[in-house]
Amino acid sequence: MSVHLSRYTTLGTGGPAREFAQPTSVAEVEALLRRGLPVATIGLGSNLLVADEGVDALVLKLGGELAAAEIHGDVLRAGGGAANAVCLHRARSAGLGGFEFACAIPGTIGGGIWMNAGAYGGDFSQLLARALVATAEGTDWLTPEELGLSYRHSRLQHGQVVVGAELRLHPRPPDEIKVAVRELNVQRKAAQPTNRRTFGSVFKNPDHELSAGRMLEACGLKGYRIGGAQISPKHANFIENAGDARTADALALMAEARRRAREQYGVDLVHEVELLGDIEVT
Ligand SMILES: Cc1cc2nc3c(=O)[nH]c(=O)nc-3n(C[C@H](O)[C@H](O)[C@H](O)COP(=O)(O)OP(=O)(O)OC[C@H]3O[C@@H](n4cnc5c(N)ncnc54)[C@H](O)[C@@H]3O)c2cc1C
Repeated sequence: MSVHLSRYTTLGTGGPAREFAQPTSVAEVEALLRRGLPVATIGLGSNLLVADEGVDALVLKLGGELAAAEIHGDVLRAGGGAANAVCLHRARSAGLGGFEFACAIPGTIGGGIWMNAGAYGGDFSQLLARALVATAEGTDWLTPEELGLSYRHSRLQHGQVVVGAELRLHPRPPDEIKVAVRELNVQRKAAQPTNRRTFGSVFKNPDHELSAGRMLEACGLKGYRIGGAQISPKHANFIENAGDARTADALALMAEARRRAREQYGVDLVHEVELLGDIEVT
């Protein structure tokens, strides 16, 4: 059965996977990896642009125990497919803080470790004790150093599947966590297009006094549209699906944004969004 990946990305674009599987245990992941096909794992597709032509790989989406989360002492043990929202809920119920920064990051633990997701000064590298990573050769616990976590980056490669992780948290009263999360969500809603289909920040912030968003705004790109995709009128470092977007439209917008930033500021913007399939940002 050919599964269309547009169902699994928050932008709502992307073509079919060569094969698609939803393993629910480490043993199932290991068996799938041993088939020797190229493999890519997706989480909630919230940082993902998938080629319109599809992906010539076995695409995995983790479920069952690999999407569960539980608390042991001050450690959150989660499957690689566990949603950040579920993890944050478990942590808050147990009176454990530290993961509040992830309240507005609509992804999974595996996706968060892949790019060391973060917000409001927090990121995965600050909490991660270790991650359980499966490959065709076997499954091992890796430390943050072995994963090479830095600003929105890890050394993980497709074919390495984050099946689990342990995050070290600290005691914090649930009511305090609730208030902190509410405040962060208010800030987020004021600044970003939270009610539109996007994939979060398009570009990493450059080493420049202007953030990527401010730079693209100054380039006059707010509201700029190609096909069914547009640069958000609210925040220029977001691309929205304005109805019938294709991945090619988003890529064309990114190319235009890069061209203008280079021309006006001499800055080469680097994309934060992950690409899946035979596509590139020019
Ligand atoms: C409205 C909105 C706001 C956002 N805000 C932020 C923010 O503040 N900060 C931030 O950092 N990000 C933000 N993002 C981007 C995104 O939510 C994060 O990058 C998130 O961590 C991606 O997780 P995911 O599970 O959706 O991964 P996906 O998008 O599904 O995948 C991203 C990459 O991770 C890999 N991957 C996913 N799961 C696994 C796994 N189990 N094992 C191995 N590889 C895996 C994929 O192959 C892909 O390369 C935002 C996105 C949206 C839509």
